[in-house]
Amino acid sequence: MKEDREIEALLKNISEHLKCPNCGSHYDVDNVHYLGRMQVFYVLQLFCVRCGIPVFASVLVKDGRKKDKVFQIPSELTKVDLLRLANDPLDSNNVIDFQSFIKNHQGSLSDLLK
Ligand SMILES: [Zn+2]
Repeated sequence: MKEDREIEALLKNISEHLKCPNCGSHYDVDNVHYLGRMQVFYVLQLFCVRCGIPVFASVLVKDGRKKDKVFQIPSELTKVDLLRLANDPLDSNNVIDFQSFIKNHQGSLSDLLK
């Protein structure tokens, strides 16, 4: 119950302070979703209603009992990635193409990441 209240407060705080990295719009609290917790990180998904860019974020909570929570939004997406996704979002055909590619790949998955 206490963690539920903390998460609810976190989502409200995030919606008030964070802006979409693509268009600068504030997030509505209904578009900030808590996905889970990994050790000291809360994993969130934010969706911008203005430009449609979904953003995954991990929020580091220094100490849940203190008021000095520290928010960090590490992301591997660059501004170029965000602009590309805004102009050419992934669709079901991309997923099917990737599935076919993986199915026909003869090497290991780590070979693909080199
Ligand atoms: Zn946006």
